[in-house]
Amino acid sequence: MNRLNHFAGCMAIAVAACSCSNKTADANPEDFDYVVDRFADIEVLRYQVPEFDSLSLQQKLLVYHLTEAAIAGRDILWDQNGKYNLAVRDMMENIYLNYNGSKDSDEYKAFEKYLKQIWFANGLHHHYSMDKFTPQFSKEFLIEQINALPDDKKPKDQDTLIALIFDPSVSPKKVNQAEGQDLILTSSTNIYEGVNQAEVEAYYAALKDTTDATPISYGLNTRKVKLNGKVVEQPYKVGGLYTEAIERIVGELTEASKYAENDAQKAYIDKLIEYYTTGDLRTFDEYSILWAEDTASQVDFINGFIESYDDPLGMTGNWESIVNFKNIAASNRTETISNNAQWFEDHSPVDPRFRKDKVKGVSAKVITATILAGDSYPATPIGINLPNANWIRAAHGSKSVTLENITEAYDAASHGDGFNAEFVIDKETSDLMDKYLFITDNLHTDLHECLGHASGKLLPGVDQDALKAHGSTLEEARADLFALYYLADPKLLELGLLDNPDAYKAEYYKYILNGLMTQLMRIEPGKDVEEAHMRNRKLISEWAYEHGKADNVIEYVTRDGKTYIKINDYSKLRELFGELLGEIQRIKSEGDYASGAALVEKYAVKVDPAIHKEVLDRYATLNIAPYKGFVNPVYSLVKDADGNVTDVAISYTEDYIPQMLRYSRDYSTLPR
Ligand code: ZN
Repeated sequence: MNRLNHFAGCMAIAVAACSCSNKTADANPEDFDYVVDRFADIEVLRYQVPEFDSLSLQQKLLVYHLTEAAIAGRDILWDQNGKYNLAVRDMMENIYLNYNGSKDSDEYKAFEKYLKQIWFANGLHHHYSMDKFTPQFSKEFLIEQINALPDDKKPKDQDTLIALIFDPSVSPKKVNQAEGQDLILTSSTNIYEGVNQAEVEAYYAALKDTTDATPISYGLNTRKVKLNGKVVEQPYKVGGLYTEAIERIVGELTEASKYAENDAQKAYIDKLIEYYTTGDLRTFDEYSILWAEDTASQVDFINGFIESYDDPLGMTGNWESIVNFKNIAASNRTETISNNAQWFEDHSPVDPRFRKDKVKGVSAKVITATILAGDSYPATPIGINLPNANWIRAAHGSKSVTLENITEAYDAASHGDGFNAEFVIDKETSDLMDKYLFITDNLHTDLHECLGHASGKLLPGVDQDALKAHGSTLEEARADLFALYYLADPKLLELGLLDNPDAYKAEYYKYILNGLMTQLMRIEPGKDVEEAHMRNRKLISEWAYEHGKADNVIEYVTRDGKTYIKINDYSKLRELFGELLGEIQRIKSEGDYASGAALVEKYAVKVDPAIHKEVLDRYATLNIAPYKGFVNPVYSLVKDADGNVTDVAISYTEDYIPQMLRYSRDYSTLPR
């Protein structure tokens, strides 16, 4: 599972829709300009890096080189996302920089919007829906602009690029997960070429040793192609695919290694360099173990091919990087959860056969992100739990983090957006959400990441990929249910994490409202729910609605022609969450693909068109962007008169377009 469980997976993707008032100390939302840009279905924000100045110069230099290593990988993800993405980006940026016509024309505005969209998606397909963007400027406009470019800026494969942009039948979907189709042939990511699903599955079936208790993450860092009639893997490594970008990453990691905080950190940075140099997945596992076991360092990072959500077969990792440092004060919360991991495991409502006898090394911390890159930029997770390999997690533990400066930015930017007034059923619930949603949302993320993904075990001999295309959805559901179940547990009051026995209701209400209704704002009319986290939320909410029907646990109420969600029995809802957790844990532990597929197909995919239309109509009146992402701060070295570095400065002034153009100018690593 490489992806599934993974962590990153787990990324609990932030729901762009809550408004709440509690905030932690560092952010000064009144004085900080969070909103950077707004276009299409996107709002771009910026985030603060509180306490950066409390780091030592050595730590700042470590962060500096790691941020450089992060941005250096940008083009890798663009190329993984689609074979022609970089060529299209070059062409569009050249036109943008060369343009001297009217900037008020509809054609130009549509062109600029499209460019902003592909920047945000790191390619031609929407980062969430996976559908190709539809340009609203004309082919004639584009051709005219291409003709106006100097010869050395004109694209080489103009006709291919134009067809790709304008013909809806060419590469319509980045990742297709529709049951019964060839998922590789119908997906347009660039991690497969000339091979079909059956061939790739046969290739790995022959390669995998199912008796291996410590399997490598097969296919994690390779592109799969056909050579002389055979499936062949092309590794991403120094001397292999993406070598130009990887060499630059390695160069910055080598610098970073000099500023490591301690030997353990230096050891895993050096091991990561070795892995990038050899491409050996055993080395990646060694690195992952060293990384997971280093919990003493304050600065931390991930940099590599990690989450495999965008591989229809769930193996190949998208390149990403996040650099961060521990928020020591806020980490007390997650440490409390983590220190009680065994209690939670022992009391979880699943068959004892599927529980872990000993939950090892669940570490948890609240972090401050300093850079987001690759698959975590501009759209980013708010929680991360790694490494993904199940056997490493079991034997060496995993790290769970909550990116609290990111959640603060979401929260600050959502103030007064009208969401609660439109969708929440009554003032009592709305007040409860105002008061407790920020903390219960954070706790939900903590429980999901620190405990949910780490809980439970597979029965001996069960393949961790047994749930195949539904693995991600079911894994996210398992982690969410674990979090939801415990959010209502008196244990949280006992541990001092919540101060009100009703606080959990804020999160329950938001979760069900989101799963049954408001997340549909992200789906175009007539489309199914595709993305794993969204499927998971729909699965849980629809299942709880149906199984609570006899007791009227959740009710749809119509008032003034509008539909509202009413929760009549919160404690029964908690029981239902526990029941479903038991079933999904059983499915995972036994590798029961058929039952898992049946759950997903019945509850997670199909959308009721009437409620969907209503949500879209009501949401449209609010002008809230369904998706949000971030620009990064800019870091620069401060030198004295003799050229010695005396500090690393941080600046928050760069806007979206300038940042994208600067990254393209200064960090274009791959040959075209
Ligand atoms: Zn997750």
